[in-house]
Amino acid sequence: MYRQRSTMYNYDIDSVDGIDKLRERMDNAGSDVTAWSHILSDYIQFGNNKIAKSVAIFNMNSASDCPNRESDNCQVPWEKCYAGQAERQYKQVLPYRRRQEYLWDCMSAELWANAFAELVSRKRNDVTAIRFSEAGDFRSNADIIRVNQIAKMVDVDVYTYSASDYLNWSLADSFTVNQSNDFSEYGNRRFTALPEGSELPEDTVWCPFDYSDKSGDERPKCGECRLCINPEGPNVAIEIH
Ligand code: SF4
Repeated sequence: MYRQRSTMYNYDIDSVDGIDKLRERMDNAGSDVTAWSHILSDYIQFGNNKIAKSVAIFNMNSASDCPNRESDNCQVPWEKCYAGQAERQYKQVLPYRRRQEYLWDCMSAELWANAFAELVSRKRNDVTAIRFSEAGDFRSNADIIRVNQIAKMVDVDVYTYSASDYLNWSLADSFTVNQSNDFSEYGNRRFTALPEGSELPEDTVWCPFDYSDKSGDERPKCGECRLCINPEGPNVAIEIH
């Protein structure tokens, strides 16, 4: 009987642009942490239009492959998902994020944390936090466990946003989780995306970056603003534009 080949991914990882080159680099790196730190460095971004340069950004998957894509779990419609828009607009973005996913799945927490420490030691600028999943979301409890282990080993704050409410978030005791839907209580605070013109819910503040957009104030980026990074603090809301 013919059995369909099953892989960890719902796309053909062997056909992802640049995967052979990445595999060759990983193969050559062996147990050399410095070599791994150079690989990881190519898959970590420091800052973007909303996040300060002092914050390292790493995705465990793409928005296109997000476990919560186009589901009720996600509070942002797929067509308004910034991460998804970038993947549709720029052809190199989706393969890059798929290679990030592959790299993530090939690295232990210890290797990731040690490689991260080395790449940070080469940087001139301060690094104060790691943001996991700017695109995509946590796929399983194993992702939570690995990020939690990393958070214990690195000397910067680790934070994320997740709409994967169905996972066991009690496993995340060493990093900050912003809860992105109302299906269950998890994480450190609620992070809500509200339709334009909505009233601010109780115990909630507007994201200063989002709010300054409208008021014309100087915009504090994530990292400069720590509302979502600190484990304690109020709920945060943004408007869906
Ligand atoms: S509240 Fe602060 S940390 Fe959270 S998204 Fe807005 S700017 Fe970033």
